[in-house]
Amino acid sequence: MYYVSTRNKNQRMPAAQAIAQGLAADGGLLTPEVFPKLSQNALESMKEMSYQQRAVYVMGTFLDDFTSSELAGFAAKAYGGGKFDVKEVAPVRRVDGNTHCLELWHGPTCAFKDMALQMLPHLLTASLVKNQESKTVCILVATSGDTGKAALEGFRDVDKTRILVFYPKDGVSAIQQLQMSTQQGENVGVCAVVGNFDDAQTGVKKLFSDEALREQLAGRGYFFSSANSINWGRVLPQIVYYVSAYCDLMRDGAVEKGELINVCVPTGNFGNILAAYYAREMGVPIGRLICASNSNNVLTDFLNTGLYDRNRTFYNTMSPSMDILISSNLERLLFSLSGRDDGQVRDYMAQLAAEGRYQVSDTIRKKISNIFSAGFCDDKQTQQVIGQMWREHNYLIDPHTAVAFDVLGQYRAQSGDTTPTLVVSTASPFKFCDSVLGALGVTELAPGTEILDQLSQVTGAPVPPPLAALKERAVRFDGCVTKEHMVDQVLEMLK
Ligand SMILES: *Cc1c(COP(=O)(O)O)cnc(C)c1O
Repeated sequence: MYYVSTRNKNQRMPAAQAIAQGLAADGGLLTPEVFPKLSQNALESMKEMSYQQRAVYVMGTFLDDFTSSELAGFAAKAYGGGKFDVKEVAPVRRVDGNTHCLELWHGPTCAFKDMALQMLPHLLTASLVKNQESKTVCILVATSGDTGKAALEGFRDVDKTRILVFYPKDGVSAIQQLQMSTQQGENVGVCAVVGNFDDAQTGVKKLFSDEALREQLAGRGYFFSSANSINWGRVLPQIVYYVSAYCDLMRDGAVEKGELINVCVPTGNFGNILAAYYAREMGVPIGRLICASNSNNVLTDFLNTGLYDRNRTFYNTMSPSMDILISSNLERLLFSLSGRDDGQVRDYMAQLAAEGRYQVSDTIRKKISNIFSAGFCDDKQTQQVIGQMWREHNYLIDPHTAVAFDVLGQYRAQSGDTTPTLVVSTASPFKFCDSVLGALGVTELAPGTEILDQLSQVTGAPVPPPLAALKERAVRFDGCVTKEHMVDQVLEMLK
């Protein structure tokens, strides 16, 4: 199977090259030429499989340049060996008669990024071997939160890799900072940057484009790569959990073979919900995809009107991983819905770059309204939903997940649709103790990591082991540089 650029279908390459390269040379996103189909019988045959076996099956249909024993090895390393705190890896929990919640936060960093970032390093290193690349890859990340930690855990002690994460000194929570500064592993580096996320991001972009640095590092046997969410190696592992969730619902008698479900996803960069769309394309019986946003509701407006317009106020919300005004993975949806019209995608992306907006054709708009619904929810409503879910269902959820539950409630009230629905839960409530405690009516918050125990005492829910362990971990990385000195950190780490 070949992968093509969303901006030029003639640029084709095998999976290993698409994963190693990340982005097409023309700036487009590398996307499978065709989507393999999963029959209802195939889905039924996966009912009794483990998560790892399902991953091998689904990923194998896209990666014909990898053997199934290779993929089985990756799945065992990514999702086995105690890396996840439940053996189901991505369990589905019943909330009420026709509402089910897919919990994607049982991994080492307690957020859904683990689902993809535990797998990506294995796909990437194997791809480099297939491409006969002999240098060691150094992953550079600028992070405002969840991605940096998940990337560190994913690449930690993976052969032939190094990872260096820069985070803004004033732009991450105390727990997030502690998660990163205590990171374990021999091939990792973490450093704070003076300033905000933009400073860290600009600094990393400069490192990527520094020709002299690139040459110097090549001499030492290294080259740079990134682990961002547009890499096909991050989207593919996300398709797996939608297939897996449907198999679980069938196995547990919540749906009949072939019965439609809806899926509701808290959305930022459009990676997670895109994977649900691809699962639907492959034949998983999914009816509507419900896209949930916070006050940064650029996607709500786009999916409802066909006009994408990033020229609007940016809000910092209590669901920070969805505070995004440009959703990069949307480009892949446009490619698919335009009937793979690369010229049209190129036009839209050029308008987005020049004016910050574009309006899609009526044809695309109709297709969107046949598949997608969209809504948004502000911080006040988010907190209300956290409180309500706790009181009515004894179910503790984080702010991102609460946005999804609220938007699902709005959708059901408007449409009267009673289709069984899978709500995607993207973070452990313990990653956002302050907002969650506030929602439960607690006004005096404990300092530092004590807030973890406080949430546990108030709710009776145990602190997830990776977060509980933070208290005993020694700080390994306390460096802080200005963005001009980030290059010194790189040279020091890649000696
Ligand atoms: C990254 C993230 C999201 C958004 O996912 P996208 O794939 O970017 O749409 C939602 N919730 C949490 C907790 C996240 O970390």
